[in-house]
Amino acid sequence: MPHLKPVGKKVIAIDGPAGSGKSTVARAVAARLGMPYLDTGAMYRAVAFAAMRRGVDPEDAADVAKLTVDLSLKVTDRVLVDGVDATIEVRSPEVTRAVSVVAANPGVRRELVRRQREWAEVNGSGVVEGRDIGTVVFPEAPVKIYMTASDEERAQRRSQEMLDMHYDDVAADIARRDHIDSTRPVAPLAIAPDAVVVEGPGVSSEPAPDQAAPEAEPEAEPAPPRDVAVVHPPTRGELAWYHFAWTVMFPPCWLMWRANVVGRENLPQTVPYILAPVHRSYIDTLLAAYVTTRRLRFMAKEEVFSRAWSARLFGSLGGFPVRRGTPDREALVMCERALAGGEPVVLFPEGTRRSGPVVEPLFAGPAFVALRANVPIVPVGIGGSDRSMPPGVKWVRPARVALVIGKPIWPSPPPTSGRVPRSAVTALTERLRTEMQTVFDQARDLAG
Ligand code: C5P
Repeated sequence: MPHLKPVGKKVIAIDGPAGSGKSTVARAVAARLGMPYLDTGAMYRAVAFAAMRRGVDPEDAADVAKLTVDLSLKVTDRVLVDGVDATIEVRSPEVTRAVSVVAANPGVRRELVRRQREWAEVNGSGVVEGRDIGTVVFPEAPVKIYMTASDEERAQRRSQEMLDMHYDDVAADIARRDHIDSTRPVAPLAIAPDAVVVEGPGVSSEPAPDQAAPEAEPEAEPAPPRDVAVVHPPTRGELAWYHFAWTVMFPPCWLMWRANVVGRENLPQTVPYILAPVHRSYIDTLLAAYVTTRRLRFMAKEEVFSRAWSARLFGSLGGFPVRRGTPDREALVMCERALAGGEPVVLFPEGTRRSGPVVEPLFAGPAFVALRANVPIVPVGIGGSDRSMPPGVKWVRPARVALVIGKPIWPSPPPTSGRVPRSAVTALTERLRTEMQTVFDQARDLAG
């Protein structure tokens, strides 16, 4: 492959096998140094996804190579393939199964390596992670790191992320991919001679059940999360766009609902948190946005992202998709990344719009994420929104609404960065439901 210019002179190359912890390290390094970050694995995944979507057999080398050359592909925090947001799909088991064959295709590699070098040229510098970054893509990179970890450790890390896959399946998948990735003729996974070999961050194991018993929460706001590295703080542009949209929408929303917001002082000012509102109407999303001027990251149902324009709009405002009714690993990862970037996340723990005055049984996701990320959950009661736009009604009508923000509920005991015990998730979810009911009752009273 011809290297016309040594564009990798300011690249930090991070290579290693699946589950070695290189993504965590690469993102943290990029954030710490203020450098752009590129996940090249996502590019190979995107090609595998595009082939499957277009009905091209991933084993058909000529067709897949041709498709790659024509492919519109954008990899940032999200993965856009032909304008479609495929952030979730590229992590699916189907794509993971197909990706190594696609990545062994010389035509695919030629095109993606060309794009990776172009990316470095445009950005001037960057942290790039993959399998062949220090050996093939940027052999001139001044800093090369090769991350390793034992097979067990890697499988354990991945199975903690893949809620819906068993450890044995994950271990088998990693072993199969390792084999293909390191034995392929073109750019196999290898340690560059001048790379520093680093043992990946350890995976902590599940604490004993008695350690996991819930305790009373401290009253005061504890120190910022220990286990959360700042990985992707929002850019100035992202913040400006969010605040612009917020400001434009504020007057009509205020006129429509005259929202009475009680308890704003309960919102943590500096640390990330999970905002957990009750959900009785579509307008709850807008109302939740008005409790603070701080940018909130919304998790929205996948359908919102199915059209290119709405995916672009919600994505640019910091929203990210969740597949409802399944343990969606990618949505959890997005949540954790947003929290790790210091931003609050909005999750509706009832899962979908409900009706009536009783807080319905909650999904375990918010408690699970709070425990993993060591961030508090802030319950929010919204009263009156169902009068403005009840389920089944397409138009919003003016109605008085009230929001009551409860005290932050800190996960207790201090979480580990590893597996979260089910008992702790259940206890925190129950506690949250009780608190949500309290603030919901108050909000309905206030709304009249
Ligand atoms: O890093 P991740 O597991 O997402 O990568 C998915 C697959 O993409 C790897 O198993 C490998 O086959 C391929 N890959 C590659 N070269 C890279 C990055 C990823 O061959 N630079």
